Amino acid sequence: MLKMADSKKLESFAKYSSLMKPLVSKFIAGNNIEEAIVPCEKLTEDGIQIALDFLGENTKSEEESENAVKSYINVLDNINSTKYPDRMNIAIKLTQCGLDLGDELAEKLYRKVLKHAKKSDTFVRIDMEGSAYTQRTINILEKVLKEYPNTGTVLQSYLYRTPDDAVKLTKLGSRIRIVKGAYLEPKEVAYSEKKDVDKSYIEISKYLMKNGNYPAIATHDESILYELLQFAKLEGIPKSAFELQMLYGIRKDLQYKYLHEGYNVRAYVPYGDSWYPYFTRRLAERPANLLFIMNNMFR
Ligand SMILES: Cc1cc2nc3c(=O)[nH]c(=O)nc-3n(C[C@H](O)[C@H](O)[C@H](O)COP(=O)(O)OP(=O)(O)OC[C@H]3O[C@@H](n4cnc5c(N)ncnc54)[C@H](O)[C@@H]3O)c2cc1C
Repeated sequence: MLKMADSKKLESFAKYSSLMKPLVSKFIAGNNIEEAIVPCEKLTEDGIQIALDFLGENTKSEEESENAVKSYINVLDNINSTKYPDRMNIAIKLTQCGLDLGDELAEKLYRKVLKHAKKSDTFVRIDMEGSAYTQRTINILEKVLKEYPNTGTVLQSYLYRTPDDAVKLTKLGSRIRIVKGAYLEPKEVAYSEKKDVDKSYIEISKYLMKNGNYPAIATHDESILYELLQFAKLEGIPKSAFELQMLYGIRKDLQYKYLHEGYNVRAYVPYGDSWYPYFTRRLAERPANLLFIMNNMFR
């Protein structure tokens, strides 16, 4: 993990160095929706579906949270003017809707997005953030699910609690995206060993593939995907019963491979100028990315 001082240096380096541009634009589709929609149109033409993420988290004022929601309404309108609107949905963070300012505000703003999305039957997924927000996120989701079946969330296999959450949310009819988890968590709540996170990922995914409501298997881990797709074949689970999700800019080859094999594939496409926290999570997942930057930073 990065030390605070390194992290600050990296942030200013990332923002001002032209060297960083290619790496940032590998993961981030553009500074605004007009830029981001261009690669999305190309991907959807090919058959890859999209989850659009307007970057931003931990808003500090009601106004900032309202503005984020306005941007999402704008995204929904943009989706509706594309050639394949049914191939696109959105991902949102509750801390972007003001969760740090209270559950009530976050629920109110999230409902605003849901109401607008429902008009065009667009699905809205709440991304899952650090474990301090897990229960609050699930509580809010539970409150809106009946009125808005066009929503769902994400569960992280590194959390010990996730098998129970998967059963509970499945029974409530929620769609679930299963991921390994991208935040630094204490060992009181999460596995720290990769092998345990992976084992948990496989078990929960199998449960969701058999019992879930169109789950999203979100990973770039080829050996896990191989095991899960073999499992689906053996269990007679049709390809249409789930989708595979990967991040924009990561393992594009795999995305197209599975698409051509007849699977539903969705790319998670982030855009916007608040890209720094998202970008550093991607760097932390892959030492090779980080090494590239560090080598150039301190020369
Ligand atoms: C669609 C999608 C949505 C997500 N939403 C959330 C969320 O809401 N909350 C959350 O906590 N996390 C989320 N994540 C992130 C997730 O938790 C993991 O941190 C991330 O997916 C890396 O784990 P992995 O499953 O790909 O497996 P890993 O074991 O980390 O990686 C497997 C292989 O994938 C490739 N790879 C993985 N990451 C990178 C990278 N950054 N750069 C280049 N190659 C890479 C490498 O080849 C690596 O060997 C999401 C991930 C995806 C794909």
